Amino acid sequence: MLNEILVIGSVALDTIKSPAGYSKEILGGSATYFSVSASFFAPVNLVATVGSDFPEAHRKTITSFGVDLKGLEVKEGKTFRWEGSYVKDMNCAETIETQLNVFAEFKPCLPKGYEKSKYIFLANIDPDLQIFILKRFAGKRFIGCDSMNHWIKNKNSSLKEMIKKTSMIFLNDMEAKMLSGESNMLKAGKYLLNLGPRFAVVKRGEYGAILFAKDFIFMAPAYLLEEIRDPTGAGDTFAGGFMGYLAKTGKINEKNMKNALLWGSVMASFTVQDFSINRFLKISRKDIEKRYKDFKELITL
Ligand code: AMP
Repeated sequence: MLNEILVIGSVALDTIKSPAGYSKEILGGSATYFSVSASFFAPVNLVATVGSDFPEAHRKTITSFGVDLKGLEVKEGKTFRWEGSYVKDMNCAETIETQLNVFAEFKPCLPKGYEKSKYIFLANIDPDLQIFILKRFAGKRFIGCDSMNHWIKNKNSSLKEMIKKTSMIFLNDMEAKMLSGESNMLKAGKYLLNLGPRFAVVKRGEYGAILFAKDFIFMAPAYLLEEIRDPTGAGDTFAGGFMGYLAKTGKINEKNMKNALLWGSVMASFTVQDFSINRFLKISRKDIEKRYKDFKELITL
């Protein structure tokens, strides 16, 4: 039987400015990127909230990847909006504006059956909400989580309490350094593991990612691309590929964890080639496998 993945996060309308252009109110959000990416590996259930203005076409786009949207609650009001710019730095989004709208009242509600998911990804939301969700799950699960500078600064103790309850944390290098107070990446990685999870991944944009575990460390560069159009969602897409691969294989061991990092990197390399999740609308599992093969050749002796 296939292992299902559950993601809880944001579904958004993003406005993006990058050297490749300007795109207004396009489909975005952490749960969107994660679920589209993971859907290439395993069945995905999504929990998020949108407003009554959320376009039907976007809903259809997400379901075209086979993602189950029973958990996408529609509330009277406006959908969460985020505006970001990469004009100054392609590796780091500058937030121009965040409009929480209906997301401010988000109280995740799990449709029947979702609580059985063995693989759960708590995308970047308020750590108190992440803790609230975790209470719904008993027994053995593989739980991945993400966060951001805002929560590291404003909800530090809740965030640490939440991380302690998870199997794995995904952070970017700036966040890992900020949370740990360490400027050295190895020390920062060890600090994350000491908070409690079995694994920690530090994402380093175009420089790749590092996987920390108690008894091994593994790292890989990012896939080399000539043109990056929009880096939004690269982190969530990476996590989707990573956890998707784990759910597909059904086994958490050193080899699978290392391979998951490669699949996550491959998935992220597609996202950044176009705005929103558009690149995934144009590729198939075959294209992903081909890039995985090319990537392995690039990094193996
Ligand atoms: P990433 O580039 O992987 O960090 O994720 C970018 C996505 O996160 C965008 O599509 C945004 O809609 C979403 N996002 C930005 N800020 C927030 C926030 N405060 N809470 C939840 N999602 C957010």
